[in-house]
Amino acid sequence: MKKTAVFPGSFDPITRGHESVILRALPLFDEVYVAIGMNAEKNSFFTLEQRIKFLETVFINQPKVKVVKYKGLTVDFCKQVDAAYLLRGLRTSADFEFERSIGQINKKLYPGIETIFFLTDPQYTSLNSGIVRDILRHGGDAGQFIPESINLKDLGY
Ligand code: ADP
Repeated sequence: MKKTAVFPGSFDPITRGHESVILRALPLFDEVYVAIGMNAEKNSFFTLEQRIKFLETVFINQPKVKVVKYKGLTVDFCKQVDAAYLLRGLRTSADFEFERSIGQINKKLYPGIETIFFLTDPQYTSLNSGIVRDILRHGGDAGQFIPESINLKDLGY
């Protein structure tokens, strides 16, 4: 049976931390859906289209990666694409506490799902999309924090 995983998030924007988790997951699965949840769309910094484009650019040479958007519960999306694995990154103990309850509730909602955690690469522990947005908002250079293939200069950053 095909091993399908979903890596959900806002990816606003994708960082090197996200990229590293996804690349490390690829050998373990037949396909990985990198899925942008649209629930908090109103408050995003980059538009949905821009975030999708970033992801597509970064993984253009990775046929196992499918970039998608979804609405509603993550577990419902997992059912829809027949994914039995939900991927999450763990940076800190705070991430763990947060993810533990979500993971346990998701398992109640959909017993067929297993949440798989990836410990972040040490160099990305302090990295998150919010920091990247703050740097960009204030005219800084966030190049070292986002995947190499993304060129924010075209967007005026
Ligand atoms: P959310 O909207 O759920 O906060 P994010 O887009 O921030 O989603 O992150 C999606 C996933 O990526 C989460 O599992 C998060 O823990 C993980 N992640 C975010 N930043 C990093 C990082 N620097 N290293 C490893 N994993 C990360």
